[in-house]
Amino acid sequence: MGDDELRPGEFWLIERRETTWEEAFPDLDLASSRLVVEESNFTVPRINTSREGEVSSFGRTVRCSVSKCQSGGFNVQDFIGSLYRERKEEGSVIKGCGGQFGSPRSRRRPPPQPCDGVFEVTAALVYRQTRSDELKDR
Ligand SMILES: [Zn+2]
Repeated sequence: MGDDELRPGEFWLIERRETTWEEAFPDLDLASSRLVVEESNFTVPRINTSREGEVSSFGRTVRCSVSKCQSGGFNVQDFIGSLYRERKEEGSVIKGCGGQFGSPRSRRRPPPQPCDGVFEVTAALVYRQTRSDELKDR
């Protein structure tokens, strides 16, 4: 395998082309793998939004739901990829949205403030037959 070859679970770090969930995670049973994404605020321990569904029903990233937040969000495929590469069936993470309020381009306005949005994400992954199993069958 060459270093420039597309490796499962890492496509978004290597390639800029559009790839499908199936291409990125060929060993995942996408219809059975589920994800829960809850959003809250660091200062107010209350869940603002909660969404649950098949992993592939989510986009590559979930945008922060705070309307004035800029460039905040959660990288779904990065998270799934980290579990996938270790073949973990369950995983959860709590992560700040990383966005900010205010315009960094304008000097008249106050400096940008970090968004206090927090993502709490839990995944339950189901794997297909492993590739090594398939190789044994050949
Ligand atoms: Zn945010």
